[in-house]
Amino acid sequence: MGLFSREKPKIKVQSAKPDGFSGWVKCTQCGEMIHATELEQNLNCCPRCDHHYRLSGLQRVALLVDDEQFDEMFTEIQSTDPLDFTDSESYRRRLEKAQAKTGRDEAVLVGRCRIGGIPVALGVLDFGFLAGSMGSVVGERLTSLIEYAIQHRLPLLIVAASGGARMQESILSLMQMAKTAAALQRLHQQGLGYISVLTNPTMGGVTASFASLGDVILAEPDALIGFAGPRVVEQTAGMKQMPQGAQRSEFLLQRGMVDRVVRRADLKQEIATILEFFTPDRGESAPEVDSCLVSDLERSPAETLRKLLDVAQKERA
Ligand SMILES: [Zn+2]
Repeated sequence: MGLFSREKPKIKVQSAKPDGFSGWVKCTQCGEMIHATELEQNLNCCPRCDHHYRLSGLQRVALLVDDEQFDEMFTEIQSTDPLDFTDSESYRRRLEKAQAKTGRDEAVLVGRCRIGGIPVALGVLDFGFLAGSMGSVVGERLTSLIEYAIQHRLPLLIVAASGGARMQESILSLMQMAKTAAALQRLHQQGLGYISVLTNPTMGGVTASFASLGDVILAEPDALIGFAGPRVVEQTAGMKQMPQGAQRSEFLLQRGMVDRVVRRADLKQEIATILEFFTPDRGESAPEVDSCLVSDLERSPAETLRKLLDVAQKERA
């Protein structure tokens, strides 16, 4: 087998499929039968074992924003196929099929909204669209969103769900990693907060760029998070098997790569609490870059935030 041939992509995402007739689904995690309606009412989490099934981009937006109000932006940025790329199928055709399947034009939604009453610049990746892969349009829309956040002094929230860079765009997709990272650096220099939420799965060039650059990094329970898949890691590192759960949220929390593992039911409230922390009397009298960095250090934001969240969680319980 050649270096570049392999049969199937390694990232698999479980999804509970209703049989359409009875509306009952079998949880792929615990094997219990759940009614599709019950699953939906429970935010697509199994009511028995709490396994978190995937949400579409739109479902994710609906979960997070206040009053279902979301102004989608930068939709004028549209995919082209500058490389005229074809593998087993042309890239153009793949895009068309993804658009027909999802009713969306690309693998990302960006825009403004309020969460817990606080204005936010929100970006959401949609795994259902070409595995949430980051091509030029995804990278450009996210970068435009970050620049909008800087311009309007808004905190930024990006929810990742992605197989990584979009290989059909070759180097053009890899460039998006550097571009989004550079834009986030400017956001950081302006003293604006960025929350990154990692959901199942977050892999490849997305993990290796904006998804790992949050001031606060949250993850949904048991989400697959990594760069390369287990087989590649094992081969490269010459190990028989990776440690159990090595690419899961809880493992990464223990290693300090993730700050909090948050159940979907608590996600909005948790994000709202962090946003409050990010936006105390900012806005008009936004501090200069240097003084802001100093004051951030003085306040020890990570420690303060941890305490704040623990208190908030206890209050909810
Ligand atoms: Zn279950």
